[in-house]
Amino acid sequence: MARSASITFATLQRFCNHLAGAGAFERVREQLRERHGIELDRIFAPDAWYPTELFVTSLDAAHDVLGPPSFYELYGEFGAVHEVNVLFRWMLRLTSPSFFLQRGTGMWGRFHDTGTWTIESAPRQLRGTLRDFGVVHAGYCRVVTSWMKRAAQMTGARDVSVMHSQCRASGAEACVFVGEWR
Ligand SMILES: [Zn+2]
Repeated sequence: MARSASITFATLQRFCNHLAGAGAFERVREQLRERHGIELDRIFAPDAWYPTELFVTSLDAAHDVLGPPSFYELYGEFGAVHEVNVLFRWMLRLTSPSFFLQRGTGMWGRFHDTGTWTIESAPRQLRGTLRDFGVVHAGYCRVVTSWMKRAAQMTGARDVSVMHSQCRASGAEACVFVGEWR
């Protein structure tokens, strides 16, 4: 079974409370209990791993309960800022978005135990292909797109755009993300 690290839940919890005030994540837990019969932890032990399916179900519940249409994008941006500032501060010394995103996708395994990245880079462009992730979930692809964009901006890159040009949720064989910047 595909698993995701407790940090993915802890960051979602922090984001919900940041977005909608203290108690917001509690509302998400209630929704999971009522709609799905899931009793989600309130405290996520640092070394715990949970099913990835539970993570995307929690993400969708948070989207439904807290609701701005750009929820997935906002969460991706929050995740990039939080994870890089708190966990991977040394990455900020990598001033090229290309190096930064290569190292960033190299960190994927700290969050999820399925999915492998292939990165192809050209000047001012990067193409990242994610294969065999344990869930197919268009919402989480929006999170990844937004994470990559915000992370690239954190290196000082300007006019960053990230396109999710092929997606397994639309029948493609793998998920392809193409970033460009100036
Ligand atoms: Zn996708």
